[in-house]
Amino acid sequence: MKKIIQDLSFTQVSELTKSCNQPSFRAKQLYEGIMQGKNISQITTLPASFKNMLLNEFEDCAISIVRTLTSTDGTEKYLFRLADGNIIEGVFMKYKYGNTQCISTQVGCRMGCKFCASTLGGRVRDLTSGEILAQVLAVNALHGGTREKRAVTNLVLMGSGEPFDNYDNVVAFLKNVTAAEGINISARNISLSTCGLVDKMYQFAEEGIPLNLTVSLHNTTDAERARTMPIANKWSIAEILKACDNYFNKTGRRYIFEYALIVGENCDSRHADELIALLKGRPCHVNLIRLNSVKERTLEGADEKSAYSFLGMLERGGLSATLRRRTGADIGGACGQLRAGFLSENAQSADE
Ligand code: SAH
Repeated sequence: MKKIIQDLSFTQVSELTKSCNQPSFRAKQLYEGIMQGKNISQITTLPASFKNMLLNEFEDCAISIVRTLTSTDGTEKYLFRLADGNIIEGVFMKYKYGNTQCISTQVGCRMGCKFCASTLGGRVRDLTSGEILAQVLAVNALHGGTREKRAVTNLVLMGSGEPFDNYDNVVAFLKNVTAAEGINISARNISLSTCGLVDKMYQFAEEGIPLNLTVSLHNTTDAERARTMPIANKWSIAEILKACDNYFNKTGRRYIFEYALIVGENCDSRHADELIALLKGRPCHVNLIRLNSVKERTLEGADEKSAYSFLGMLERGGLSATLRRRTGADIGGACGQLRAGFLSENAQSADE
């Protein structure tokens, strides 16, 4: 695979342009074209000779949307193909306050959570910062957005992959996506979700990127958490909470916990009491999710009634909590399911 031009910051694009003996206004044209979600060959303001120089070194198309599914509620799911043929997925959701895109940070995942489809085949490879950015540029362009008037206003790093298992590329991406010369999405409109890589949570607090730090908690004790999340064998809930408080002290941003309600695992009244004891008085919010059942997994999500009853217990206990609205339920559920389905379809047709 050649290099990915979306990996470059504006300063790096300027240096590249200079090294190709091009006048400096070409750097602006090139960067503007990239930010518009164009392939190098599609940037009509650039001379062919310069484009050919670029195409010797860089992939023309970092990412392309190969399938779009549209839900009756307006949610869209995409399968993207990367330059090396790998497939990742993403989601676009319309809310009252703006449009949120869910992006992937790795092809697959190696965290091994028992309820998650992204991790079924392990981690194939990390995405480069440019491949993460290209997802945003492609979907923004698809919806008629520009750099000045964005169609994508909010980002969640909750697609396939563990962002902190691809730390350097994710941080480079966050710097580029929030850069004033670029698409300039505010860190406050970005949520990064981690299964709780505590060392990286401390490191990230030093980066000066005040986003919404979200941790997938999903249980109240380390032993029970380890039943569905192998990472619980490495880092304890107590260590996670300390790292969250450090993030709050460094950035002033309150943190968020994801809690997917799984029948028989984490959502009886004892769990509600334990969650209240753990989190009461902390600057945090709890996002309850009804687990999306994954075909390859046996775990079952709580029904609506028990989800609301769990939410009520948390609220009465003094926690700030919400039950996440379900979007796109008719177009294939949770993280990684679309890709898993696509890969097995293709494997079947290859077998035939
Ligand atoms: N690796 C990161 C981010 C990706 S997953 C993390 O673990 O946080 C984004 C969120 O979706 C996480 O909270 C994850 O636990 C949750 N999730 C995974 N599979 C799910 C499923 N089947 N139903 C509901 N939520 C799920």
